[in-house]
Amino acid sequence: MSDFHKKNITELSALLKNGEASSVQLTEHFIARIKQYDDKLNSFITVTEDEAITAAKAADEKIKTGNAGPLTGIPIAHKDIFCTQGVKTSCGSKMLDNFISPYDATVVTKLKQAGIVMLGKTNMDEFAMGSSNETSYYGAVKNPWDTGTVPGGSSGGSASAVAARLAPAATGTDTGGSIRQPAALCGITGIKPTYGRISRYGMIAFASSLDQAGPMGQSANDCALLLNAMAGFDEKDSTCIDKEVPDYTADLEKPLKGLRIGLPKEYFEKGLDADVEKVIRAALDEYKKLGAELIDIELPNSGLSVPVYYVVAPAECSANLSRFDGVRYGYRCEAPKDLLDMYTRSRGEGFGSEVKRRIMVGTYALSSGYYDAYYLKAQQLRHVISDDFKKAFEKVDVIMGPTAPSTAFKIGEKSDDPVSMYLSDIYTIAVNLAGLPGMSIPAGFANGKPVGLQITGNYFEEGRLLNVAHQYQSCTDWHRAIPEDFS
Ligand code: GLN
Repeated sequence: MSDFHKKNITELSALLKNGEASSVQLTEHFIARIKQYDDKLNSFITVTEDEAITAAKAADEKIKTGNAGPLTGIPIAHKDIFCTQGVKTSCGSKMLDNFISPYDATVVTKLKQAGIVMLGKTNMDEFAMGSSNETSYYGAVKNPWDTGTVPGGSSGGSASAVAARLAPAATGTDTGGSIRQPAALCGITGIKPTYGRISRYGMIAFASSLDQAGPMGQSANDCALLLNAMAGFDEKDSTCIDKEVPDYTADLEKPLKGLRIGLPKEYFEKGLDADVEKVIRAALDEYKKLGAELIDIELPNSGLSVPVYYVVAPAECSANLSRFDGVRYGYRCEAPKDLLDMYTRSRGEGFGSEVKRRIMVGTYALSSGYYDAYYLKAQQLRHVISDDFKKAFEKVDVIMGPTAPSTAFKIGEKSDDPVSMYLSDIYTIAVNLAGLPGMSIPAGFANGKPVGLQITGNYFEEGRLLNVAHQYQSCTDWHRAIPEDFS
């Protein structure tokens, strides 16, 4: 067997360009790996082998004509939250187990236009609600570094598949940390761009004011290539921002001398595992060697982010998920007595318990008499949280800290304790509430499990984040590590 899976997108692209490999060969290689290994991980819900081979053949033709771009012929996987025409799009839910999307999400269209080959759709927490990938209707996803532990969530299937090199890269979405937290727990690189940078059209909505798509890959360089294709205005999404897309690879090599890195005191307090902190401090030392300056800062309202998020996100999800009623598409209960029985049983049987918990909390927070006390208050506090960042970015260029308070936890460890589960996003959620770009990069290991360093930037500073990440990855090789059982 060849070692295509040990290579990143840039390296695979060079092989394609030089004629040392064809897209069909790469695609067959990754499909074979999925068949060989995914029983252990459960990272895919659907594998689209035939469509992938057809797309790979078309890519090979394009390469022959000399019209290939850097992503032409590269196989990747899509989180099953993105609508894919003619292919099941389940969002990890029984509610959509029978749903074949009639159209492509804009992210899918754009990546198709860039020449990528879709390998399949990855497993995820139901409707992207979760931090461990245990809420999926299709069963828990395993972390390839230790299959007794969770990969993080909700883009856990994408993270697990990339970490085990069943796909060179994948797409994810991040509402409160779902790209960064699983990237951290699985030892891969992921970036959540500024809210509005990438179109949400065809991306099944969880919390519309927070949801944002992004790439998950082996390196900052790969993420930059994918982001180049994914970002940009789309008139089909009214919250998508009409702003030119820079070439995200252009500044990767910029030296970091003089970079001001803010370290929020709140990210290094009680609740952070000591062995995770050690790895993060070592990474920060590396940045010092690269010429950066470390500056202590404060984000005094950080403690509000989890409670605020758990009002805003459920409120929005309760509205977004009202469309799943058994009428037009999705799950419908057997032999309904009447219309009300169809609504209640279809939703009662189609949704899992975490989704129901969120719908109930959200409906309550939006109801008359409680709206002002909960939803409105949460929206006001959102501004307070954003203002903390605004002040911080007057003094620093980027903010760093751990992505998650601990390494991957055991499957089942937190599934009966929602609050402890919600706290695993304590460092990521504020970034979504403020709409800022954030990323996670592999920074080392604690007890054999990956640790992620979170880098947050100011609005539309994705290029800078990728530069800061790439410089670190140019002098370390944590991002190159592959779990032994999958190497
Ligand atoms: N873990 C958070 C939640 O459960 C965030 C999920 C996400 O980003 N999609 O809502």
